[in-house]
Amino acid sequence: MSFQLPDLPYNFDALEPHIDSKTMQIHHGKHHAGYTSKLNSAIEGTNLNGKTIEAILKGLDMSNSALRNNGGGYFNHCLFWEIMGPNCGGSPTGRLSAAINDAFGSYDDFKSSFSSAAGTRFGSGWAWLCTDAQGNLEVCSTANQDNPLMPGECRKTPILGLDVWEHAYYLNYQNRRPDYISAFFEVINWDKVSEKYDKAII
Ligand code: MN
Repeated sequence: MSFQLPDLPYNFDALEPHIDSKTMQIHHGKHHAGYTSKLNSAIEGTNLNGKTIEAILKGLDMSNSALRNNGGGYFNHCLFWEIMGPNCGGSPTGRLSAAINDAFGSYDDFKSSFSSAAGTRFGSGWAWLCTDAQGNLEVCSTANQDNPLMPGECRKTPILGLDVWEHAYYLNYQNRRPDYISAFFEVINWDKVSEKYDKAII
């Protein structure tokens, strides 16, 4: 069994003007496609063949850089496409909204904590909203294609992630990462994030 590049759940231009069509095409068709094929090469002929990506990442040997970079890149982008959408943005509702208020004080406080994690990540990486199995939320950030499923400091289930590699925003925003981070909040699909939150809790 090999991993497949998932289709985007919307058109390449669906997130405009916040994320432009050309960036989406290159990001999905070149970057994510590259991680997918290199992940498949990294697991070929090993006992990881047939395991889910989540199981592979949770049990990852962090010294296996091909698997760490490409397995992380595969999972992270799958999640990233899913948690965005056209006609989205706004703020979460229901159980997730209550958990955000518990953990951060308010939605605005969450937004500022997440934006700060994304803005202060030096070089390439990701900002995350994660939950433990009891539903306690945390914001964290990881370098390169690492994520909170992997052995490391956070070790929770990511339910929202923002790619802050330059390839994610440079065509449209150049060095203006803070503008890209603000724009991201206009395309978050909170229904999908809520669904992931509910699934992650025991
Ligand atoms: Mn990326």
